Amino acid sequence: MLVEGDGVFDLERASDGRLGAGARAALAGHAVLHEVAAGLVGQQPDRTLADVTLGPPQPDPWQVFAIGLNYRGHAAETGKALPEAPLVFTKFPGCLTGPVASVEMASDTTDYEAELVVVIGDTVRNVSAADAWNVVAGLMIGQDLSDRELQNAGERPQFSLAKSHDGYGPTGPLIVSPDLLDDPDALEVRCFVNGEQRQADTTHNLIFSVPVLVEYLSRMMTLHAGDLIFTGTPEGVGLATGNYLRSGDVVRTTITGLGELTTTLR
Ligand code: ZN
Repeated sequence: MLVEGDGVFDLERASDGRLGAGARAALAGHAVLHEVAAGLVGQQPDRTLADVTLGPPQPDPWQVFAIGLNYRGHAAETGKALPEAPLVFTKFPGCLTGPVASVEMASDTTDYEAELVVVIGDTVRNVSAADAWNVVAGLMIGQDLSDRELQNAGERPQFSLAKSHDGYGPTGPLIVSPDLLDDPDALEVRCFVNGEQRQADTTHNLIFSVPVLVEYLSRMMTLHAGDLIFTGTPEGVGLATGNYLRSGDVVRTTITGLGELTTTLR
């Protein structure tokens, strides 16, 4: 579906069949998406946002990258040195859930991490940082929920496993095209637990910016339309203080221009 204001448009119908209903195919046609969106002004929507239950905007990416220690303050609070190159792990796509999720905690050391998530819109290799925004279909909010006990079990960190329990990848509420944002390189990320602000920073402070991450990852492998990049979290996570999430907690994340995401733990 395509959202314009409060109006929800069926993608297949609005595009006269040029785009299918699936998110990945639509993201691969993001140039067509822009054409279709431009033609929607004044059109009657199929439904309104209030009438739909949103799931993960891109539920079936081929690859989900996530970046560790990408804000100075967060690196400092974990006692780790700043990485010289992006520190990359994966969240398995099965963990993805929508913007108003109820997530069962897999451990009593479950932690929140508010993040900007990049949605790739082309199948590309070796993209330069200067061209990177052209291959980004959109941005959304993500929470990189993390099971700290499992993450730190054993000799090497178990990032991918500990961050991929069922529901540990809330995303949404919508994928927003970067051209709709005043400055996609400087978005305020905030995270609240039960209304109390725990994280606040701007993506302007990312150690490895969105363009640099796209360049780096596309040098390593092909990036596919619909792939996701969780770009890392600001300081203020529970790991630093032992203040982990408890059943009933509500984690709300906001990012400039991208709306908000609310997860309830149980
Ligand atoms: Zn993270």
